[in-house]
Order: sequence, then C-alpha cells, then structure tokens
Amino acid sequence: MTRVVILAGGVGGAKFTLGVRAALARGGDPEATVVVNTGDDLWLSGVRLQPDIDSVLYALAGQNDTQRGWGRAGDTERVNAELQAWGAGWPWFTLGDLDLGTHLARTGWLREGLSVTEVVARLSRRWPIGVRMLPMTDSEVDTHVLLARGDRMHFQEWWTRHRAALAPVAFENPGVQDAVPAPGVLEAIAEADVVLLAPSNPVVSIGPILAVPGVRDALRRAPRVVGVAGIIGGTVVRGMADVCLSAIGVDTRSDAVAAHYGARTAGGLLDAWVMAEEDAALAPAVQACGIHPVVAPLWMTDAATTEAVAQAALQA
Ligand code: GDP
Ligand code: CA
Repeated sequence: MTRVVILAGGVGGAKFTLGVRAALARGGDPEATVVVNTGDDLWLSGVRLQPDIDSVLYALAGQNDTQRGWGRAGDTERVNAELQAWGAGWPWFTLGDLDLGTHLARTGWLREGLSVTEVVARLSRRWPIGVRMLPMTDSEVDTHVLLARGDRMHFQEWWTRHRAALAPVAFENPGVQDAVPAPGVLEAIAEADVVLLAPSNPVVSIGPILAVPGVRDALRRAPRVVGVAGIIGGTVVRGMADVCLSAIGVDTRSDAVAAHYGARTAGGLLDAWVMAEEDAALAPAVQACGIHPVVAPLWMTDAATTEAVAQAALQA
C-alpha cells in the first residue's frame, strides 16, 4: 500500500490531486490525504468562504466549472445580483448560486459548533471524492497582504479586486503562530510513504500550510518529500504567482522555487523536485542544492497528462 499526502492550494492543487487519485487507482490499495490551504478563507455577507477547499472538493467531485476555472459547473448568479442591488458583499467578487449553497451549509455547521475539520468531512460526503480532504488547521488564519504603500488587505481583495497589481512586501497569516494543525494532519504525514507538494502557489497556497506550527517538523520526519514545479519554462502557468514570489525575494525560476523549499539535507524539506522539460537546463542547479531533480512534462492539460505529472511525482 502506498500512503500519499498532498499539500495543496486551489485550482492547481485540485488538478494535481485528480492526477494522484487516478495514478493511485491503478495501484491496488492506495490511500491519499490532501491537506488544503485555508489561508484564502474569508467572511463575506455573513458566510464563510473556503476557496481552496471548494476548488479541491468540486474538482474531485467532477462538479467544477472547467471552462471558467473556478466555481461550480452550470452555476447562475441570481442571488449575487440581489446582493449587489443591496450593496452587500464585494461588487467585484461573484458568488454563484450553487456555490452559495455550499457556503450556507458550511456556515450553518460552523454556527452549530462543528470544527472546520468536521465541516470539511461533511462536505466530503456528498460525492465519492476518493481522497481524504483535511483543512490545514481549524483556526482562522486568513492570509493578509502587506503593501508597499503601507496598508494591508485580505489576500482575496488583493488577488481578485486588484489582480495582484498593488506591490506587496509580505504575506502574513495573523495568529498562525498559535494555530495547530487540523486533527489528522500530523498523523497522516507521520504515516505517509511520500508527501507531495502540489504545483500550487508556493507563497500563498503552500506557504500558509508550512507556517502552521508542527507541519515542517512532521515533513522532516517523513520518509520522502517531493515537490512539483508550478513554473514551466520560467513562467507561472496561470495566475500571478510570480508577483508573490518576487515579494518574498524568490525568482520565478524552477530552481529558485526548489531552493526556496530547500533540501532536506540542508535543513529544508525536499528530497526531490519534479521540474518541467522546458527547464531541464536548471536541473544541475537543483542538484547542486542537494535536491534530486526529476525532469518531466508538467502540463496538466487533460486527464492523461495530469495523471502523468502525478506519476512522475510518485516515482521521483
Ligand atoms: P489557486 O489557489 O486556485 O490559485 O491554485 P493553486 O495555488 O493550487 O495553484 C496555482 C498554481 O498552479 C499556479 O501558480 C500555476 O503555476 C500552477 N499550475 C496551474 N496549471 C498547471 C499545470 O498545468 N502544470 C503545472 N506544473 N502547474 C500548473
Ligand atoms: Ca487559493
């Protein structure tokens, strides 16, 4: 049996997790746990949103809108129009009707006293998602962006409203130093044969998970930790992760992100780094860091290529 733990953000993490699920399904008696970033979570119009949890859930359930890239397939925006008419919520942030059903269910359960972990377990029950999904923590440690102009804002406002165009100087998860990993996270890592860092945004998706006290130590005790690059040919595939990387002084290069995670032998996390064929010339630099480079096609464009990316990570 192969026990796999994946650390993941939203859409990129969801795709990769689909690939891992497909790859493991060929292998007999597999078990996968995905630990999802909750730094993107926020309160809006009285409901709790968990963008990355929902991206992973909808993708694993086959309910995601693959055209638009986020939210539920076939969603409508009637309630959103009403919210806008009332001047409630954020005019630049769309809440789909089906999506609001998820948010209402989640918020109701939270108000009844369930923990975030219990809520995520309930959300996981509706469809056969084939993977155990855990939030990184039960605490509210929403990501904030500190701006060069001096103020700060919730990550979601910076990302969605301002399209990452306001220069950031740092990303913070207030209160994370007092947070603990969600029940089951450390246990899953302790029992894993391999831990995979999805090709998610290293700063605002994987970063908050690694910031939860205890997670890094658990990874150092894991038998094998493999990272997968979200950079192909020196650019981030989708999104604006390069702005986040620049803010923390990391170049948008595969070898630089590998060095950011660091080699296990040098006090970092990685045993191996799966990097794109387009970046093969950087493999010696990764090797020089003490991380085993594995060069593979990293485009997750359909089910077959996505499974191949996961397979490369599992075999690394
Ligand atoms: P978000 O929370 O929805 O922004 O999603 P994640 O943080 O999980 O993933 C975003 C990252 O996924 C981006 O920075 C991309 O570089 C990466 N990504 C998206 N599509 C692909 C792909 O096809 N291949 C690889 N290797 N990375 C991808
Ligand atoms: Ca996210």
